[in-house]
Amino acid sequence: MREISTQLIHHPYRPPEGFDAVAPGVHKASTVIFPNVQALRTQEWMDKSGYTYGLHGTPTTFILEERIATVEGGRHCVLAPSGLSALSLVDMAFLRQGDELLMPDNAYGPGKTFAAGELAAWGITHRYYDPLDAADLAAKMGPATRLVWLEAPGSITLEFPDIPALVAVVRAANQSRGAERPILTALDNTWGAGIAFNAFELGVDVSMQALTKYPSGGADVLMGAVVTRDEALHRQVLLCHMRLGLGVSGNDTELVLRGLNSMALRYHAQDASTRELATWMQQQDGVVQVLHPALPGSPGHEAWRRDAKAAACLFSVVFDERFSQAQIDAFCDSLRLFKLGWSWAGPISLCAPYNVSAIRTAAWPHKGGLVRFAVGLEAVDDLRADLAQALATLHA
Ligand SMILES: *Cc1c(COP(=O)(O)O)cnc(C)c1O
Repeated sequence: MREISTQLIHHPYRPPEGFDAVAPGVHKASTVIFPNVQALRTQEWMDKSGYTYGLHGTPTTFILEERIATVEGGRHCVLAPSGLSALSLVDMAFLRQGDELLMPDNAYGPGKTFAAGELAAWGITHRYYDPLDAADLAAKMGPATRLVWLEAPGSITLEFPDIPALVAVVRAANQSRGAERPILTALDNTWGAGIAFNAFELGVDVSMQALTKYPSGGADVLMGAVVTRDEALHRQVLLCHMRLGLGVSGNDTELVLRGLNSMALRYHAQDASTRELATWMQQQDGVVQVLHPALPGSPGHEAWRRDAKAAACLFSVVFDERFSQAQIDAFCDSLRLFKLGWSWAGPISLCAPYNVSAIRTAAWPHKGGLVRFAVGLEAVDDLRADLAQALATLHA
């Protein structure tokens, strides 16, 4: 008879027969046991034909990867520990020393910081283009350009780009160049989440999203995904992911799988509340402009109307310049249901003031302060009342 410690560790276990539960099991591993040396030597880790090591995937992470690929209309998915790590994974997988990266001027801030920090230190340069001007993208592309990021809409100011037009610029450059390493397009698809539009049908090569936002929906987990259709691009992402040692936990994956079930319902419910509040804000005294792609007059509205069928829970308000930054800050502080904090697409509504001029290369036309709102799952009448009482204090 073996020692009790050994008996416990080798206790026979088989998943319960007939236990066809709705939720997939939460599997965790660093070690995965191989049946023999032959299997240890030959089991392929890249193609999901089996399991080799926790970092290379578990039944739980494979299910989430398949579901995210399905939601996005892609074929392959790689999970990363945050949206930002998924973004930097794309940069590291596709860029080498001497390459140039192009980003929209309104790109997600931490992605810009990664380019200015690590990428620059590794000899990879970057430039910004005007996301609303395909001719500007064409003019900014140089012989070293290898990757073009797109974001629809841009962070904070929510301009919706003409994705097919930007993709066409890149394709034309690839054709005229006949380069052995073509320029790739990557979309930060956190806003669309695979619900608002199909990134691959609009022509992008790589779609990345922060699962932290809509797929989770809980404001309690961080995760990111890189989705591709092309097998060779997927293998490039997967190799870089493996070399970097990126992995996600079984418990976090379970949370995202759980949130994913209600994602489409949440997306459309928050879309409706957001449009109602954005439209209402537009009519308030002291508001110069409300930025939301579904509002006529908002930058990129025409492209959004043509290419998208829904909108996420974000809108930004540009206030009249007669209000000082201190007054705008006090307005944010006076909100009771809208909390101050980062991230979005969770249950709680959020807001934050931004200094747009400080985060753009292009001139920002407005002098007044900007506040970005993220609408949660609260009743829209209560949120409107909260905005109304805070506006009253602003005007007092
Ligand atoms: C939140 C966000 C990210 C990063 O996601 P994290 O999981 O917070 O790292 C990237 N892009 C966009 C557009 C985001 O909103």
